Amino acid sequence: MAKQIWFLTGSQDLYGPETLEKVAVQSKEVVSKISQGLAAPVEIIWKPTLKNTANIKQAMLDASSDPNCLGVITWMHTFSPAKMWIQGLDLLRKPLLHLHTQANQSLPWATIDMDFMNLNQAAHGDREYAHAVARVALPHKVVVGEPGSADVKSHIDAWAWATIGWNKSQNLKLARFGDNMRFVSVTDGDKVSAQLQFGMSVENYGVNYLVDVLSTISDADAETLCDEYEKLYDVSAELKRGGARHDSLVYAAKQELALQKIMTDGDFDAFTSNFEDLGALKQLPGLAVQRLMARGYGFGGEGDWKTSALGAILKAMTPAGGGTSFMEDYTYHFGPGPAKILGAHMLEVCPTITKSKPKIEIHPLGIGGKEDPVRMVFTATPAEARVVCLVDMGDRFRVISNEIKVVEPNEALPNLPVAHAVWEPKPTLAISAEAWMLAGGSHHTVLTNAVSLESIEDFARMAKVEHVIIDEDTRIREFRRELQWNAAYHRFAERI
Ligand code: MN
Repeated sequence: MAKQIWFLTGSQDLYGPETLEKVAVQSKEVVSKISQGLAAPVEIIWKPTLKNTANIKQAMLDASSDPNCLGVITWMHTFSPAKMWIQGLDLLRKPLLHLHTQANQSLPWATIDMDFMNLNQAAHGDREYAHAVARVALPHKVVVGEPGSADVKSHIDAWAWATIGWNKSQNLKLARFGDNMRFVSVTDGDKVSAQLQFGMSVENYGVNYLVDVLSTISDADAETLCDEYEKLYDVSAELKRGGARHDSLVYAAKQELALQKIMTDGDFDAFTSNFEDLGALKQLPGLAVQRLMARGYGFGGEGDWKTSALGAILKAMTPAGGGTSFMEDYTYHFGPGPAKILGAHMLEVCPTITKSKPKIEIHPLGIGGKEDPVRMVFTATPAEARVVCLVDMGDRFRVISNEIKVVEPNEALPNLPVAHAVWEPKPTLAISAEAWMLAGGSHHTVLTNAVSLESIEDFARMAKVEHVIIDEDTRIREFRRELQWNAAYHRFAERI
């Protein structure tokens, strides 16, 4: 059953049954128009017109408690005195979008009369309602325009994707194999606050639980998966069946099957690993993590549960064919030419960000003290994209986004044995990096070429979390002030 967004039309009994019948017909037409071409996999459900305090309250309680309802769109077709909405709005626990529209696109200048005016008065009916929304202080989105317009549809679509992300966040379960990498600050944080604010449950497992599950995976099942690898990827000769190091590929396949079993059995959406704490694992999971990310699981290295959870949320918001991956700012190209960032990780970059066929290779890993790990190697395909992080500032969480352009590397990188992306951050590397660090942004991020900035903004608003954006308009002086004002705002807002 497709997840739903409920469309609630407001009016009142004052107008009589004939007008209310027209209200119902026209609001169904609006639902039909905004539903056409919506890319987000949701169904917009028309609900009977709301006309009094009792049925508004009931509708909001129903929306709040229905697990299939992701959010609510409201529209005051006529005039719906907004004191009727206050209690209902105050009870609403789902994301709210206020669509400010009307059924007709153009005014019928030559024929307009008071009957038309009575029927089509959202211009002030919606303003009356919006006052109540502002008083209840719901973190909602307002979309204005003709319901069939591409602009209106695109804003609704961005919000609909965000409701999917918010639903994922509210139900998110994350398995941590091992704790935080020793002495690292930004990957740590308050999991109780995260559960309160985002709904996510972060659960710890000893890494040897993964080892135990891995020991139950048969060689035959692992070999079958190795055959799949050979079909899908360019597997190096030494790892292929019959190759000198095929056993390492079999072990990587067992890691994938074991991780998938744990995710499925525990209904998990995301996980972390920590190369300092691998127990009896023979290799750091690389290929296995990449394969699970490609299937929609969030991942964070070094115990980084926040980036992993954000990855699962943004993957839920990624349209089919789009790319979203765990990423880390690794090293710079200051010039000549535009300054660039080379992003990668020890192993764990998701192949959804490349259109090329990944290679599967085995190379030494200088840290962790284990056997050489198997990994996919590829270069991210050029695209407009963004990197996003979630940090714990102690008194609140903060989301930071940087608009970037993923580009081709200046030259081939024949000796780089890991998957990677090269990008030009906006507005420039110097301003981007300065702003990112002033905001306390992490070295781990989620890179997405498919989730729009608008959807991320909508998600942050639903979560009531601070979101600072670094883009082509960023100027450091204003950015510093924004951080200062945000600190005051969030301390004030969270404490009243
Ligand atoms: Mn890392």
